[in-house]
Amino acid sequence: MKRKTSPLPAIVASVTPTDSASPKSARLRTSPPAAILASLQRRGIHVDDLAISIVSDINLLGQYATQWLMATTRELLVYAEAQQEEPLLTLELCEASEFRTVAVVGSGILQAKVGEIWLDLLRYSNRQKYYFGRTAKRLDQLRANEKITLSEEDDHDPRRCASCGLMLTFQGETCPRCINRGKAMSRIFLLLRPYWGAAIVMMLLLLTQLTLSMVNPRLTQFLIDGVLRGGTPGSAGGDAQAPRLPFAFMHGMTPTQLLLLVVGAVAGVAVTQACINIFNGRLASRVGTSITYDVRGRLVDHLQRLSLSYYDKQSTGSLVGRVAYDTEAIQGFMSQLTGGFLMQILMVILTSFFMFSISPKLALFTLVPTPFVLAGSIIYYRFVYPRYSKFWDRSNKQAGMLNGLLSGIRVVKAFNQEDRELGRFQRSSGILRDARRQVDTSAATFYPIMSLVFQMGGWVIWYVGGQDVLLHNIDPQGGMTLGKLMAYFGYMGMFYGPLSNLTNLSSWITSFSTQTHRIFEVLDTPIAISDAAKPVSAPAVNGDIEFRGVTFGYSRQTPILKNVTFQIKAGQMIGVVGRSGSGKTTIINLISRFYDVDDGQILIDGTDLRQIATGDLRRQIGVVLQEPFLFRGTIWDNMVYGRTDAHVEQVIAASRAGNSHDFIMRQMHAYDTWVGERGAGLSGGERQRLSIARALLCEPRILILDEATSSVDSESELAIQNALGELVKGRTSIIIAHRLSTLRNCDLIMVIEEGKLVEKGTHGELMTLDGKYAKLVRIQTSVTKSDSIDTITAHDEQQKKLGGAAVMPELLADPDTDLTPITGHRPRWLKPQSANIHLGNRGALHVTVMNERIYNGVFALRCRPVRFPSQYISLRWFNSESREQEIGLIRDLADWPAEAQKLVRESLLRRYFVHVISRVDSIQEFQGYLNFQVDTDLGPMQFFMRWSYDTAQDYGERGKVLLDVEENRYVIPDVAKLSLLSRKAFERYIYW
Ligand code: ATP
Ligand code: MG
Repeated sequence: MKRKTSPLPAIVASVTPTDSASPKSARLRTSPPAAILASLQRRGIHVDDLAISIVSDINLLGQYATQWLMATTRELLVYAEAQQEEPLLTLELCEASEFRTVAVVGSGILQAKVGEIWLDLLRYSNRQKYYFGRTAKRLDQLRANEKITLSEEDDHDPRRCASCGLMLTFQGETCPRCINRGKAMSRIFLLLRPYWGAAIVMMLLLLTQLTLSMVNPRLTQFLIDGVLRGGTPGSAGGDAQAPRLPFAFMHGMTPTQLLLLVVGAVAGVAVTQACINIFNGRLASRVGTSITYDVRGRLVDHLQRLSLSYYDKQSTGSLVGRVAYDTEAIQGFMSQLTGGFLMQILMVILTSFFMFSISPKLALFTLVPTPFVLAGSIIYYRFVYPRYSKFWDRSNKQAGMLNGLLSGIRVVKAFNQEDRELGRFQRSSGILRDARRQVDTSAATFYPIMSLVFQMGGWVIWYVGGQDVLLHNIDPQGGMTLGKLMAYFGYMGMFYGPLSNLTNLSSWITSFSTQTHRIFEVLDTPIAISDAAKPVSAPAVNGDIEFRGVTFGYSRQTPILKNVTFQIKAGQMIGVVGRSGSGKTTIINLISRFYDVDDGQILIDGTDLRQIATGDLRRQIGVVLQEPFLFRGTIWDNMVYGRTDAHVEQVIAASRAGNSHDFIMRQMHAYDTWVGERGAGLSGGERQRLSIARALLCEPRILILDEATSSVDSESELAIQNALGELVKGRTSIIIAHRLSTLRNCDLIMVIEEGKLVEKGTHGELMTLDGKYAKLVRIQTSVTKSDSIDTITAHDEQQKKLGGAAVMPELLADPDTDLTPITGHRPRWLKPQSANIHLGNRGALHVTVMNERIYNGVFALRCRPVRFPSQYISLRWFNSESREQEIGLIRDLADWPAEAQKLVRESLLRRYFVHVISRVDSIQEFQGYLNFQVDTDLGPMQFFMRWSYDTAQDYGERGKVLLDVEENRYVIPDVAKLSLLSRKAFERYIYW
């Protein structure tokens, strides 16, 4: 079976002239095969009538299958490759009221709203989501009878690299595949650049050191043969093999003088070597620590510039580990460079030269252990070494867990979970212990065996060389002198020593490259929010803010803000209301440019936010975050955080305005009082007031308060409001509040719902409009005393529900389990007796709940997809307000009739598109990418993924889920269940 190349088609295709290279290429104008054209003809549609024609790669059930979607100005048709005569689905455009794409797991669905139902038209894998996003937009235009002309924008995903087609992390990133990043080693050498002088000195000293160490055995030889054994060396009739006196002045010396001279030379060499060692060691440590220092600085600098979206995905523990521990690898590299492997390699080469020059025969015997050494290295690298990486990873995990435990200690205590946490820790600690044990046992076995192998070489030389010396004793012309043999042993020691260390070379290289990989992975992460090439400096903004058609989602597939447009004039005070999760904080995140918009523009004083220097921008925006964060330090430190040069009087003024002066004065050391991590020691409201004061102190042009008064009592709130009245004068301020009373004085109130701006106006105007805001205010003031929008709306819905269809008691009651209901509340369990799941028109799923109503356009989601794939299934639909709602839950699909089971399973298939990996054939690393060849439930596949922690995440207790560059998903439910070979291949790269 041909291997499907998941991400490759796009990449390969993009280099063929039909794609990016050619301006005529058109994703939304793919010509259909003849059979489909013929079918269209029969329906009276000519190829020229087609406004859109696009191919998708999977069908609704998530199988790889080619499907076409074609649209004329009047209708829309979907064809399957397997059945080209008749369309699978047709739809008059006027029947639909809206088109959209929804992101489901690993894929997306193009939907049309027909009547009340969102109808699934076509499904596509994540690789194609951009094009179908465009298609939905275009279909909406066609539906509204707009004339469309397809453009470049429709056919080229701006997030793909223009030359290789790789999906980039964000638009405009330098393609990591197209720039040659080189190997870790050469990059480390680049880091060395500022220290090249020192590096050269180290190298020279190293060479001197080596040369000196070659002298020693020669001196030994001379000592034995020339001084100790043979009268006056070089005299006539002496030993032919005895060394001649190298210098003329030696001729007149007595043996004792010679002895003294040689011993002196030996001592001299040793002393020089020691001096060099001391000097070199110090230099190496100095350079090594400096480089580590540099790299740490660069890492932290880079980490601070990375956008918040990076931190949404990373665990702080792992980043701490990289800065603190992985940088040590570089220090190790320096010591390897001076005393380590480089020296040892040179030593092996030089000593073998000398050994051959003394006796080629012995030199050959010396090589006897070499094959064993090689075999040993291979075994070590294959089987022992991976245990080390596992051990490192486990110890990292344990540190992370401990970190979580200690920082969450309040919750642990509050829920009385100390024992369970201890148990969890002990389990993790036990795994670490076992990993360490494995490592140590292998090392304890491996090294003595290797040492024995080397000694074996020694035995052979003693025997063979010894025989030569015996021969020489009888016949001075033959064999070899004792001195030579001793010199030979001297060289052999220098040969085996480094050779045995070289067995570690491979493991050192691996650990070195993993650690540097982790460092460079951070350094190479592009800064998504960076200044424009020529940023506009804006030392003093006016404070006009404009949103123009802003669309944004934290992940690209799910927009949180949808086409939001509004204008705020400088100096206005704006209130934002909306239910929890509607996108209020998101608006602020965008104004502060913590994230960049996906579509549309945000303008400050008429300039696009992205053109303004970020530093300038943030200096003029004062934000009080929803979760105020205080650093460890004094209250004063926290207060002047944004403006370290503030004068005491200014600080007190700001503090009074934020209504925090008084509580600060009540602290033991007033402004110099120490607050613990995250502001421990202060109450929630005190922390909030302090952060308001902190923001005010910076005198921002734009002041943003996100729920800043939510945990402040009414009296303080009033006090803050009064103070604010003064302080917001002349600045643009945006205030988000659940408590509507806070917003009464606003110049403009905006109501956000599901990421859309649904109402705006002054309090008075909105009350006259009598829309959502008015309703909220009415409920707040009259019906309930509650002042939270959520409780109000929840209450509202409850009322509506009660007023509408009565909920059958049998659906609420739960005779099947003895689980005590939580505070009298039960989920609504659907039962085959009381609910009927059936097919509606156009393949939509309907659910009739007996004695209640029919729900149209239902879809199913799993509560626990990993643990319970066919239990606890939630049936959901979009209610009349187009909001997603749960109809009820299915406890176990197996309890349902076969037909219902089939329908629910099909509906589930539409929501999840994952490849389940059953075998890993090979993994190749390529410049920070892994190229996987695997077998999956959807056939053999090949895919690329970035080699980083966030692209391979835990899936349940024992599994992993991989995300390739196209954002397709690959799951290994249980890594331990892979075959041994697959697992080895996998764990070699994904060991965390
Ligand atoms: P609240 O009143 O509860 O503060 P909000 O209106 O401020 O709500 P937002 O924080 O803007 O809500 O969030 C809007 C949506 O975006 C929510 O559905 C939330 O789950 C999602 N969201 C928020 N932050 C992130 C993030 N960092 N990554 C992914 N999704 C996010
Ligand atoms: Mg919020």
